[in-house]
Parts: sequence; structure tokens; C-alpha cells
Amino acid sequence: MRNAQATQLLFDLSSPGRRAATFPQADVPGGAPADVIPAEFLAATTPQLPELTEADVVRHFTNLSTLNMSVDTHFYPLGSCTMKYNPKRHERLASLPGIVDLHPHQDVGSLQGMLSILFEMQDMLAEISGLPAVSLQPAAGAQGEFAALLVASAYFRHKGENRTKVIFPSSAHGTNPASAALAGFDCVQLNDGADGFVDIEELKKHLDSSTAVFMITNPNTLGLFERRIAEVAQLVHEVGGLVYIDGANMNAILGITRPGDFGGDMMHYNVHKTFTGPHGAGGPGAGPIAVRDFLAEFLPGPIVTRDAASGAYGLTNPAKSVGRVRSHFGNVGILLRGYFYLRTLGAKGLRAVSEHAVLNANYLKAKLKDVLPVPFGRTCMHEFVASASQIQKERGISAMDIAKRLLDYGFHAPTVYFPLVVPDAIMAEPTETESKATLDAFAACLQKIMSEDAETLHNAPHTTPVSRPNDVQAARKPILKWSPRCDA
Ligand SMILES: *Cc1c(COP(=O)(O)O)cnc(C)c1O
Repeated sequence: MRNAQATQLLFDLSSPGRRAATFPQADVPGGAPADVIPAEFLAATTPQLPELTEADVVRHFTNLSTLNMSVDTHFYPLGSCTMKYNPKRHERLASLPGIVDLHPHQDVGSLQGMLSILFEMQDMLAEISGLPAVSLQPAAGAQGEFAALLVASAYFRHKGENRTKVIFPSSAHGTNPASAALAGFDCVQLNDGADGFVDIEELKKHLDSSTAVFMITNPNTLGLFERRIAEVAQLVHEVGGLVYIDGANMNAILGITRPGDFGGDMMHYNVHKTFTGPHGAGGPGAGPIAVRDFLAEFLPGPIVTRDAASGAYGLTNPAKSVGRVRSHFGNVGILLRGYFYLRTLGAKGLRAVSEHAVLNANYLKAKLKDVLPVPFGRTCMHEFVASASQIQKERGISAMDIAKRLLDYGFHAPTVYFPLVVPDAIMAEPTETESKATLDAFAACLQKIMSEDAETLHNAPHTTPVSRPNDVQAARKPILKWSPRCDA
């Protein structure tokens, strides 16, 4: 049940004279604020704050907290974001006093336990990627991309090569060109092949001595494994370029194949996606990067190292490091949750994660094939991209209508309108942590929605406190704080 009170502001609930606590009169001399606080620090007017009881405040925020959907409350098949269940055990472990009482400015000798965890984390990420050198610094996937592109830039500068171009398929995540542009490269977007894979002839046209990096996620954003990735990587290497693997889709291939084995030179992880850092689609995150040995000296530091003789852990900046990209040792809170996840599962468990993620996605895809066709690929990896263009043409029902209506039935929507190569895209990633019963219920719900009348769908959602905000205005001109003018 939605609580009407939750949609009111604290200012609406305010009543003059209400208060949460009553303080005793000051009984010491000079106890009045005007006597002890210098005049220049006293405000001329009393701030207009809402007046409420403690219960008013607690109820307001508790009710507000129930208005959002989350992995802990609803099925959340948001494609590309890997909204898998976040085990609560990791929360408890990450909050142990021995961990939370540390301060990053303590001397290294007193941080040996934490450094051993981070060292092991670097090691495991190197193993999983097949790329030997890891920096835990970046705090998100996008920042990992940016940091790795700075590494590429430093590497080419060091070699005396002037390479200006970063190439990516048109199905690339928006952060890929954004990171490339921010790192000072020119962006070149490929026209993808008709089958949804990289068009090798098209790629060849753009490869030359000005090519710095080819960026790709594998499986790609259509949820398809690029089978010719080794050949693609070889072509990039032949012109002296580097291959960047966007690791956001690692959930499909853990323990099955590795970016380093299929030709990648650099990659980022999204620890918050693949390794269960709790995240609201985007963050908080950790985006460690892994690179080949010849790029290690350019990595952002510090890197955790271990002295072979004494076994002591220390912090080192790589010789030609591009510098820091985040304070201290990276987003340790999220890295820890990833670490506990990896240690809990082990190598076999990790492979099972991907096998189940792929199985769940294919099961859901098969269940939906009659209502939501998938234009590319016969089988998918951990996610699939359906198209609503047929129902849009026939009945004027859009991908957004379907996504919004799902909210009424208690499901978070899949990703819509991405990737752009599929018209009216609906991109679903169920993840391995969902049961068959949940997938069946979701499929049944979508089938029901497809049979509803168009008008109901255009005006959905009907059960949420806000129905359809103006997306553009909400993104560009969000009103994030109360002011008396908002009320007018
Ligand atoms: C999520 C995602 C990113 C960006 O990662 P953030 O951690 O959100 O910055 C990059 N590429 C792909 C394919 C993604 O799904």
C-alpha cells in the first residue's frame, strides 16, 4: 500500500509549536545564545524549518524509503546493470570493527590485514581477467574506462607514437565514447554488421597507425558473444592498437573465458554489478582495471605490493603512473563486498554464477518469444534485447508504455531504448539469483500487459505516487531542494 503521507513534504506536515524534544531552560549564567555567541554569527532571522514530532519524521522517511523499487523488494531485470541479489552476509563482514575502525592515513604497518585483502583482490581480478596487472583505484566502470584510456595514452606517448583514435561499435555503452573524449581521443563509431556483431570489413576501413584503442564489451550489449573477437583483436594489434574490453558483461563469462585470453589488453570490472556491491543501477561503485604486463607501469596508484622476503604488504606507485584517480585505496567499501563474494564462491562457484545467469536469460527469452521478438541472435548470453517495434506499429504501444506498466504489477522495468541498434529496445537481464517461479511470473505479467488496451498502457503507471514525470525536464532541471517558491 502506498502511503499518501509519504508523498507530502515535511513542510506540508509541519504544525507550529510541534517538536520532537523539549530542552530544559538553561540554568547557568550567560546561557542564552545571544550572550555566548558573537553577534556576527547570529542569523538575523530564524530559519523556516518544519515543526514536527519525532514520530512524524520517522514515519515520513520510513514511508519515503518504501516508494523506491530495489533488488531487496522487487525483481529488477535492468539490462546491462546486473541487478543481482546482494548477500547480506557481506554487509556484516564489511562492517566488522577491525575493518570499519581503520583509517586510510594509518601507517602501513598497522594496515596489514586490510592490505592483504586488497592484495588478494588484485590477484583474483588478475586471474579472472587473464590480465596480470590490476589497479583498484577507479570508483566506477566509467572511471575505469577513463583511467585505462589515460594508461593507453601514456603508453603511446612513452613510445613516441601519436595515436588519436578510439574506435567502438555502435552498440557501445555511452560511457565508452564519453571516456574516450574525456581522455583526449577522437571517437570513431562503427556501423555494426547486420547480424549484431562487429563488421570486420567495416572495422578494417578504420584501422591504421592513428588507432589507439578499440573498445568493445564481450558479450556485446545485445547479449551476444562476439565469436570473432580473437580475429578482431589481432587486426587491432596488427596496426599497433590496444583492445579494451568493457567488463560490464562479465557476469556471462566468469570462469568460462577471459578477456586476456581472447585478445583484450585492458579492461574494467564493475564490482558493484558482477560482484554484488549494492547499487542503485549506477553506484556506489568500484571499477578496478586490469591490463597486460607492458601497461602495468602506467597504472593509477597506489598498487598494493607484497615484499617477497618479509611478506609485508606495502603501497607502490607504478614507475610511470598516470597518477591517482581516487582518494586512498579506491572505493574500499564496495571492493570488500566483491572480495567476500569471490571468496565465498571460489572458482567453481563463479563459473556456476555465469552458467545460471545465461540459463535464466535464455529461459526468459524463450518464454517471451511470442510477445516480444528478439531480432538478433538465436540464443543469448546473460541478457537479451527484445524489440517492441511490432506492437508499436500495430497498436501504438511503446517500450516505455510496457516498462511503466510493469511498475503497477510490482516489477522493475528492463532497460529500454538501449542499445540503439535495436528499435524500441527492451533489454532484460534476469541474473542468476532469480528463481524459475519469479521468471514465470514476470513472463506471465508481460503477456498480460501485451493484451491490455493501449489507453491503460499510455497512462501507466497507475499505482505509483508520481505517474509519468517529464523525463527530460527531470534529468536536466531537477528540483532537489525545497524552497517556498516551489510551493507557489
Ligand atoms: C554500467 C556500464 C558501464 C559503466 O559503468 P558504471 O559503473 O555505471 O560507471 C559501462 N559499460 C557498460 C556496458 C555498462 O553496462
